[in-house]
Amino acid sequence: MLPHAAIPENPVLIIHFHEIALKGGNQAYFENILKRNILMRLRDKPGARVRHVRNRLVVRGLRREDAAEVLARLQKVFGIVNISVGAEVDADMETMKATAQALVRDLRFESFAVRPKRAEKRYPFTSQDIGREVGAAIGRASHARVDLTHPDLEVFVEVVQGRAYIFAGKLPGPGGLPVSSSGRGVVLFSVGFDAPVAAWRMMKRGLSLHLVHFHGQPQTDDASVRKARALAKVLADWHGRIKLTLVAFAQAQEIISVACPERFRTILYRRMMMRVANKLAWKHRARALVTGESLGQVASQTLPNLAAIEDAAAFPVLRPLIAFDKQEIIAEAQRIGTHDISILPHDEACVLFQPRRVETAAKIEDVRAAEEELDIPWMLDQLMADAVTEVIVPDWWVEPDAA
Ligand code: ATP
Ligand code: MG
Repeated sequence: MLPHAAIPENPVLIIHFHEIALKGGNQAYFENILKRNILMRLRDKPGARVRHVRNRLVVRGLRREDAAEVLARLQKVFGIVNISVGAEVDADMETMKATAQALVRDLRFESFAVRPKRAEKRYPFTSQDIGREVGAAIGRASHARVDLTHPDLEVFVEVVQGRAYIFAGKLPGPGGLPVSSSGRGVVLFSVGFDAPVAAWRMMKRGLSLHLVHFHGQPQTDDASVRKARALAKVLADWHGRIKLTLVAFAQAQEIISVACPERFRTILYRRMMMRVANKLAWKHRARALVTGESLGQVASQTLPNLAAIEDAAAFPVLRPLIAFDKQEIIAEAQRIGTHDISILPHDEACVLFQPRRVETAAKIEDVRAAEEELDIPWMLDQLMADAVTEVIVPDWWVEPDAA
């Protein structure tokens, strides 16, 4: 909720974005994707519409009782810098004054500031005029004093294309770029703290995601799969509908552990995961792979080992957490809502065939040689044949044609 919860009748939402506003000729491309990502969260709100109004998006046609819920949803839309709820009226001074007075009538504040903005120069008044006159009107109605530096309440008046948007307070959005404006990536989605945070970070840079989780069933129980689904559901709130491919990996691990030197096992497992991710990327038109790797966090994440794993990747491997400490990752998991799921126990797909000694400085030639015993195309076919793809939707999801 807004710190100053003033939701008028016929509320409008004013959405500001800035990074995408800098994109010059591509601006329309980014704005349209942002708009689509907003509309996807309004399908269960008949009448709600979104329009571009000069570097802003304005949501109209919302019912007053839906405004708080929609605000909460929009706080998870990447690309949004801030959102406000307020009123839209004709940019006529008397109307603006009366609207501002009505908007703040039920709020408690001892000091306030009017923040005027005028997009075009053609009005009979300047920004200073708006600030002065609307400020005086609020002062008369509330007996609060003007304080431009540390006000209890800020009242924004933005005049654009003959209309005035008047709102009190701004809610922060997550910033970043709209999901899918940067294309798609396949996330190697393990269920500890790291991979879900990595997925979130790449979403914030505009990637849409396809998740792939490798599990140990039937040798392990289904805990990791349940965690993967629950984590995907948390991400779906930010992403919209999201696909999760579940790959049974125990047999591949068993084959690798029998056929290859023990110290390369972990690297060879990861290389096989990369190859499955390559296949999924081709199939789902993704152009990157995403992992939760962090430099030096565990033995498989030394530079030589990262190189040996990446050698099997057919796409750029994005590792947004490469420079994060574990504590930083855990704090971020808390902020985005994945922490409490990630912390639940599960059996790693790998525990069954865990090596006793782990190579920390694998040479790519040695790793490739170690793989020569494997029939990799056959193994990949098996893994893909048994893979199951599920669609995970957020609670607010309504299919496009059902709206
Ligand atoms: P996380 O906290 O994400 O589980 P981790 O600290 O356990 O990661 P590793 O087990 O070394 O780190 O895995 C490194 C990365 O490899 C993971 O972040 C993930 O991207 C990928 N990965 C590992 N295991 C799996 C798996 N079972 N399914 C999908 N991806 C995996
Ligand atoms: Mg892991």
